Amino acid sequence: MICPRCKADSCQLISEMETSGKPYSICKGLCGGLTFGKIGLLCGFCGEGQTTKTKNYWVCHNCGHKFKA
Ligand SMILES: [Zn+2]
Repeated sequence: MICPRCKADSCQLISEMETSGKPYSICKGLCGGLTFGKIGLLCGFCGEGQTTKTKNYWVCHNCGHKFKA
C-alpha cells in the first residue's frame, strides 16, 4: 500500500475496535429494580442496542498518515 500523502511504500494495516450504543451494564441496572411488564421488553432492547465494529486502517510509517483500507 502506498501512502496517499507522501507516496511512501511503508504502510501497515491495523485494526480498531469501535463500540457504539448504550452500555449493557446501565440497562442491566435498571432491569434489576424494574422486572415486570413493558419494562422487561425494554431490557431486551438494551441488550441488543450495543454493537461492536472492527475497522481496518492503513498507517504510514513515514509521515504517520492514517487512512481507511
Ligand atoms: Zn505517508
